[in-house]
Amino acid sequence: MEAVSGGSTPGVGCDGVRALYDRYVVPTYARLGVVLTHGSGCHVYDEQGRRYLDFGGGIAVNALGHAHPALVGAIERQARRLIHCSNYYYTEPQGRLARELVRLTGPGKVFFCNSGAEANEGLFKLARRFGHAEGRFEILTALQSFHGRTLAGISATGQDKVKQGFDPLVPGFRHVPFNDLAAVEKAISPATVAVLIEGVQGEGGVNVARAEYLVGLRRLCDERRLLLLMDEVQCGCFRTGRFTSWQRILEGVAGGEGFLPDGVAMAKSLGGGFPIGAFWVREPYADLLGPGSHGTTFGGTPLACAAALAVLEVVEREGLAAHARRMGERLLAGLRGLVERHSRLWAGVRGLGMMMGLQLQPEPAGLVVSGKQSPAARLTEILLEAGLLVIPAGTHVIRLLPPLNLSEEAAEEGLALLESVSARLD
Ligand SMILES: *Cc1c(COP(=O)(O)O)cnc(C)c1O
Repeated sequence: MEAVSGGSTPGVGCDGVRALYDRYVVPTYARLGVVLTHGSGCHVYDEQGRRYLDFGGGIAVNALGHAHPALVGAIERQARRLIHCSNYYYTEPQGRLARELVRLTGPGKVFFCNSGAEANEGLFKLARRFGHAEGRFEILTALQSFHGRTLAGISATGQDKVKQGFDPLVPGFRHVPFNDLAAVEKAISPATVAVLIEGVQGEGGVNVARAEYLVGLRRLCDERRLLLLMDEVQCGCFRTGRFTSWQRILEGVAGGEGFLPDGVAMAKSLGGGFPIGAFWVREPYADLLGPGSHGTTFGGTPLACAAALAVLEVVEREGLAAHARRMGERLLAGLRGLVERHSRLWAGVRGLGMMMGLQLQPEPAGLVVSGKQSPAARLTEILLEAGLLVIPAGTHVIRLLPPLNLSEEAAEEGLALLESVSARLD
């Protein structure tokens, strides 16, 4: 085997790696033209040794940045003891992680899986079980939502682009406008069993749920005996400065005290880069899925759970919830200035904690876009060339999802890079 790496190890080079992908990897992604080899803190490096500031965070995954010693150490120690043993047996990391997630979320229980799509899939099955005896199965979700790439995930997702060419879809999903309580109420049918929303829509362009919407949904779901499900895959795990997005959104809101959904999907930041997903179920429904009703080979391996436990420990020890909130506010203030100074390029900015979306103008000044490429994709390329990694959302939003432990210098570096690129384009 040839080594595919950079630095001091002889590798096949950027063109060589791309040739391997062209030949052997299913081309489902429009990739950017760099080969990344390693990272440290808020930065990653390509095989030519070029350094990039990582504001994409692996799509809201690398909560502690790259190569955090506590996470690396926890994975190393656990890997020497037991990597995997299946769910036929008990392991301590899974039990301890479940206890932590319940402590952080609310009274209930947790099921472990490997990804966000699987976490949502578990919630869909929970909802179907819940309504089964009454023949109720339908789940209402929001337009512009994103819930994963499995067949049920794309059926639940409120965006046509992920569904094209994959019909027939899984039946039982209908979409309503986000942040519109009346639209949900109107859409409820005798078959409806649950409502699923993101606390902050990620792929949809960083749209924050309004406090009254959350409180209203809880009341509506109680009145109509529907499960209220929250997809916290992207906005959860301290991304907004609290463990869940609703804890942040409902701070100090009358009627928001004690708010709890009935089911919550988590993944992305949970393992700080190590793949792990989970769903939490509120107490009265925690035993709806009994022995034999659901399962997965890899879910909750001791290795994945040890990684997630290490992330939670670091967040607590280093006070990263408060830090993410403070740095998020600082970045947002900087971005507001950027938008004001370059209003022919930027239309606005939204965000909560370490989850921000920069909205491009419909026709952004100075941005030359070729063919089918979106303005957001083109700007992502330009920022990469300038040394900043970001994530596009839709055609006109640039998402910033930096690690929770982003340093002040790195925040300033990011703002300076955005400023120089904006100034050049504008
Ligand atoms: C990323 C994401 C998913 C899907 O997670 P995967 O791990 O890619 O399956 C689901 N919901 C939301 C809100 C996401 O951001």
